[in-house]
Amino acid sequence: MTIQGKMTEKEFKLEPDCELRFEVEGKKETVDLKLLSGKAEVFGTELAPDKPYTFFSGAKAAVYTWHGCTLKLTGNTEGTYIAKETPMVMYLNTHACLERLRKHADEGLNRGEDTRGPVTMIVGPGDVGKSTLCRILLNYAVRMGRRPIFVDLDVGQGSIAIPGTIGAILVERAASVGEGFSQEAPLVYNFGHLVPLANLTFYNILVSRMAATVQDKMVGNRKAASGVIINTCGWVKDEGYKSLTHVAQAFEVDVIIVLDQERLYNELVRDIPFIKIVFLPKSGGVVERTPPMRISARDDRIREYYYGLHTKYHPHSFEVKMSHLTIYKIGAPALPDSCMPADMKVDDHMTKLVPVEPGVKLKHHMLAVSLATEPKDLLTSNVAGFICVLDVDDENKMVKVLSPQPKPLPKTILILTEIQFMDSN
Ligand code: ADP
Repeated sequence: MTIQGKMTEKEFKLEPDCELRFEVEGKKETVDLKLLSGKAEVFGTELAPDKPYTFFSGAKAAVYTWHGCTLKLTGNTEGTYIAKETPMVMYLNTHACLERLRKHADEGLNRGEDTRGPVTMIVGPGDVGKSTLCRILLNYAVRMGRRPIFVDLDVGQGSIAIPGTIGAILVERAASVGEGFSQEAPLVYNFGHLVPLANLTFYNILVSRMAATVQDKMVGNRKAASGVIINTCGWVKDEGYKSLTHVAQAFEVDVIIVLDQERLYNELVRDIPFIKIVFLPKSGGVVERTPPMRISARDDRIREYYYGLHTKYHPHSFEVKMSHLTIYKIGAPALPDSCMPADMKVDDHMTKLVPVEPGVKLKHHMLAVSLATEPKDLLTSNVAGFICVLDVDDENKMVKVLSPQPKPLPKTILILTEIQFMDSN
């Protein structure tokens, strides 16, 4: 592999089964990619010849070619190199196995049987390319005319909606090269924390709820043969491991793909012998994120939620009377066992609804706009979207919010989350 320095415009000739890797350097920078000859794909999405594809600040990408190609990059990139070793052949074989299971499901559906395509879950520690493999497998499925469901249970990144949520989308088109999958009509549940451990009882309830909803959507549906691809958190030890086995059970998973960690693979083979478990290596191109990089990626995700990439949306900011807001928090602070009423369990505490008085402490917090009409349904209702508290005027009892929708704020119930965002636009 050859490492190139900074550059503004450069051509690259790739041999078959190679990939060009690069990162977009600096804030507000963009890089354009063009396919000059041959064929190439970005995480499973085919490139059209001579069309410029824009990558935004912070993007880390790979352009892979099965048959060889020439590419041009315009803009400042970092650590650009051509890699000859990639796991793409193994990823393609995995796709072929899933496609066989989908064909099998098609045949069953044709015979009038109540069947469904493979439900596949991707697990592994942080930064091993789980989200990327989901994207590759979903894109390959779409390119075969399939319509798979993508479920993202990784609350740390929250690729559907924002961090602190779990979400699902029906994937009908390949991901856009620079922007990912289209997010039309996502199903989003608010968790409100960045790690499942913050409230594991609630996390597991949401996972079960999501599994039931996804299963409902598949029953008697022709699209059911396309199956489901589930992305999970990188938390794979102790309670994290248990929560992965809970996901497998709730979704009645058929295939678990373990990326990178043999120990996790062996544990799963030992504990869930009746599910097909596959080990795959991670790509050498996956970029490890430092804690500051993670924080900035989360911020970018929320900014993108409101403004879109490259400010293509225009969110609204307006003032709301505090008296108009009904806010709850999910989960009360844990009490030592000795202080708990005799008939109360820890789980009850973790799912308790606590009314929140609007005040300065809300500043910069994200609030989920629930679709529940009554507080008792708050825990398991999906959400319509998120508002961010920009400012609080305690004296005049007003709160200024940032919202994807214009005012007035509907008279819905809001859920306070731990997720914070400072709007700098
Ligand atoms: P995980 O989901 O396991 O945390 P990701 O799939 O998000 O990992 O990958 C981490 C980062 O590495 C992402 O920014 C992704 O775009 C980048 N990446 C993944 N595969 C490659 C590759 N082959 N070459 C370059 N960058 C990659």
